[in-house]
Amino acid sequence: MTGTVQHLQENLRHLRMAETANELPTLLRNAEKHSWTYLEFVQEILSFELKRREEKNREKRLKVAKFPYYKTLDEFKIAEQQSLSTRQIEQLKELTWLEQQYNMILLGPPGVGKTHIAIGLGLEAIENGYRVSFYTMGELINILKSQEYLRKSQLQLKAIKEADLIIIDDLMYMAMDQREANLFFHLINDLYERSSIILTSNKGPEQWGELMGDKGITTAILDRLLHKVEVIHLNGESYRIKNRRTIFEAKSVQT
Ligand code: ADP
Ligand code: MG
Repeated sequence: MTGTVQHLQENLRHLRMAETANELPTLLRNAEKHSWTYLEFVQEILSFELKRREEKNREKRLKVAKFPYYKTLDEFKIAEQQSLSTRQIEQLKELTWLEQQYNMILLGPPGVGKTHIAIGLGLEAIENGYRVSFYTMGELINILKSQEYLRKSQLQLKAIKEADLIIIDDLMYMAMDQREANLFFHLINDLYERSSIILTSNKGPEQWGELMGDKGITTAILDRLLHKVEVIHLNGESYRIKNRRTIFEAKSVQT
């Protein structure tokens, strides 16, 4: 008889159900132990495979996203950021903006939580099955400039274009030259109405023009970015500075 456990495992692997193949002995034992019906057994096998696949996909999405660090929205202390309410955060978590391909611009001085919120929203999106890409503006420009000769950049751009959400951190941190602004425009144009973009910046859109140099390109970029957008202004003192531990803290002033 060909129906040995080993043979079944081989067949499962052949069908690309490797997770179930590995788990089969346990699943069979449980079936006997709990006297599962045929229907229950098939259900258990399929839901096990589906669950493992989703877990693996989630891990893969998390890896591809390339977040600089992991901080969730639950770790964001609303009381420390007066410009946002718990209700607003809860609404953002529902991801309606992402479903409807709205962009989001997070503005504010350094240390107020722009990157933290962007990552938190990115993690939320990943948990809900969306593909996310995170890059700083500097990294993004380098990828765009080297796409012609670097295979790595081509692959990164492919992932960016396939993502449902692209986070561009620290926009306009540095001034762009004409070529860079052009490349950036083409990317935004490609992403337009196909994905959501979260931008963080310490300068408002009215100042972006100066940094991009070319008025025409700036207008074209802003046109697309601001067509469907939610702008969130964060302010207050830098969380980093407020919570800084000074090296002298523990020492006595009198020596
Ligand atoms: P920005 O991008 O606005 O410069 P970050 O998001 O990088 O600032 O925040 C700086 C640091 O302070 C990060 O470690 C972040 O997690 C933390 N932080 C900022 N605001 C809050 C907050 N309201 N609650 C918890 N942590 C915060
Ligand atoms: Mg930041």
